[in-house]
Formats: sequence, C-alpha cells, structure tokens
Amino acid sequence: MLAVATAATQPATTRPAAQPTATTRVLVARRGDTLTRLLASAGIEAAEAEPAIAALRPLFPPRALQPGHEVTLRQDAAGDDALLGLELEPQPGRIVTVLRSGGGWTAREALSEQRRHLVLAHGEVSGALFENLKSAGLPPSLALGLIRALAHEIDFQRDLQPGDSFTVLFERFRDPDGELLRHGEIVHAGFNLSGQRLSLWRYETEDGADWYDAEGRSLRRAFLRTPLDSARVTSGFGMRQHPVLGFTRMHQGVDFAAPAGTPVYAAADGVVTLVGTAGGYGRTVRLRHAGGTETRYAHLSAYARGLRSGSRVRQGDVIGRVGSTGMATGPHLHYEILADGRAVNPATTHTDTTARLTGRDLAAFLAARRDLQTWLARLEPMQEVAAAD
Ligand SMILES: [Zn+2]
Repeated sequence: MLAVATAATQPATTRPAAQPTATTRVLVARRGDTLTRLLASAGIEAAEAEPAIAALRPLFPPRALQPGHEVTLRQDAAGDDALLGLELEPQPGRIVTVLRSGGGWTAREALSEQRRHLVLAHGEVSGALFENLKSAGLPPSLALGLIRALAHEIDFQRDLQPGDSFTVLFERFRDPDGELLRHGEIVHAGFNLSGQRLSLWRYETEDGADWYDAEGRSLRRAFLRTPLDSARVTSGFGMRQHPVLGFTRMHQGVDFAAPAGTPVYAAADGVVTLVGTAGGYGRTVRLRHAGGTETRYAHLSAYARGLRSGSRVRQGDVIGRVGSTGMATGPHLHYEILADGRAVNPATTHTDTTARLTGRDLAAFLAARRDLQTWLARLEPMQEVAAAD
C-alpha cells in the first residue's frame, strides 16, 4: 500500500449543510494487496470495511485487485474518518464505486463510451512469425491468438518462405478523448505464401467467434497442420541444425524442429491408443479419431500427466512435450496421420467436413467483409481509422 495523495474536498453541493466534510485519499495497490488488506493498511477497521466490500463484490471481487490499481477513499473528516465510499477503475474505461447510502452501501459501475478503431499491420516473414507479427505492431496477445488459429491451416515449418508477407487488420477501442482503453480482436489476416493467398476473416455467430475464408467457409479443420505450440516453431528456412523432413516415400510423416519441452497438441478430438516407447520413435503418443484415422507423435521428452490408453482428448489438448527420444538427431516432433493403418501426407489429407455460413449469417458476413476490404484498400501500415461497429 502507498498513499500518494490526501486532499480535503468540499461537501457535496446538492446536500444539506449538515453533511459531513469528506476527505479524499488515493491508495495504490501493491503486489499481494487485496481490497481488504489495502483498506486495513489505511486504518479502516475490518468491521467498517467489510459491508462496503461485500456490496462491491458483484462488480469487483476483493481479490481482483492488481498492483498499480488506484483506490480513491472518501472519509468523514468530521466524524472519526468514517468510510463514506470508495472508487476504482479495474479496467480502463470502467469505474466501480461503492457509497454509504442510508444505513447500507450501494455499488455501481460507470462505463466510458468506447469508440472502435481499425489498425493495419503489415510485414514480411523472416523467421519466427510471432516476432514478425509483433515487429509489425500487433499486440503480443493478438499475435498469439492468430498463430493458434493458423495452426489449423499452416505447416509452420514448410509453408512459410522468405519473402512471404502478411497484412493484419485489428481493433483498438478508445474513449471519446482518444485514450486507448484496450485492444480488440483481429478482424482480418491475409497471407501471401509463395504466391498463394490465404485469407482469414473473423466472424461471430450465436455459437461464438470463428475464422472463415472469403466465402464464409470455416477454417476449422479436422486436423491441426502444426500440432504443437507454433509460437515456438520457427519457419523451416535458415535451419541448419536439424533436418526437418517433410512427407516422402522414405519419410512417412512430417518433422517439426522446436526447443525441447515445447507443448505438443492433440491434432483432433480422439482417444489415446498408445502412451509408451515404440522403438526408433522413442516416447510416442498415438490417438484414434472419428472415422478410424489415427495420429502419431514421436520422440517426445515427456507425456502429459495422467495421459493413458483410453483417455479422451480434445483438439489442442497438451499430450506431451518435444524431445529427442528414440532415433532423433535433435529435439523435434515427428507427426504422422494414418488412414487405414498407413501413413498419409498431412498436407494433402482432406478428412474435413468444413462448416459453412449460411442464410442470414452468410449475408451479414459478406457485408462485413466488404466493409473491411474498403479499409484494407485505403489504410497504410500502422495507420488507424475510426470505424463503426
Ligand atoms: Zn520424422
């Protein structure tokens, strides 16, 4: 706790003269502070603080206090510094207040008006895509979310080449004074991969937000193309240490070089059929999926805790960690898709039943996409424009 300011204020003008004189103090939360602890350190007794905190709880749980949060206290200067109320801004643009009223306490929140802006980020692929996206101006959390979405579509070690480029359109929310309240979502990402265009558009239906191609087909594939934490996978070019093999007659799978310990994901929903050592594969997990297709993940350093034959996994669940067990020259994941027991090429395997937007959703999606395309055509990199919802 740190008291940074103490100031006497006038009694509220609309109140009768008998109202107490209020003192305002600003407390700044430090690591480990809860609202209860912060008030205690300011000399407010628990019996007095508790009803106020309880009234505020639906709007602000006392443990949600973060280091740096400022809590403004109003105390009765003429009446033993009794607590009259407190106020804080848990998120930019959202102010919660609790005030003594009658015999009890009343809490309320005020939200400042949020204005939506669109920003364009543009860059080239020159190594780790995550770093490239950040250097282009994308906030790290948005870059990570995009990379996760792309793991459905892109083989991060074979599909990205020097000279490939990307364009990302994302939201910023500002208050009416132009202060940044928060970043929103990525609404569009376009990739130029060796001349091939990949275009993703975010759209929200009743079932939630998802990524679609320009025609409104869901990009959610049955199998992840990159079944590991792709933010830790650098693109294949420029890699010297480990051979990163693609699918050939001699190599029935694809390899992903990544630091030892990188989380490996289930490529699709399924049931575990093997957790154990399998010859040259080293520590291996094998999954069976709908339709009888199987996937195999080899050379792992470790399995996910509790994973055993018969366990059910969801797409994206961590099943193990990258290692170099078995016949491996360095840490990498060897990934196979097996149809009818035979390895098939993940790049050309289409086991998908892709969902497509229809009816009113499709019409709204296409209209929103056209609006965004006009902005895309007009904006320069890192240029920002106010846009309606
Ligand atoms: Zn391999």
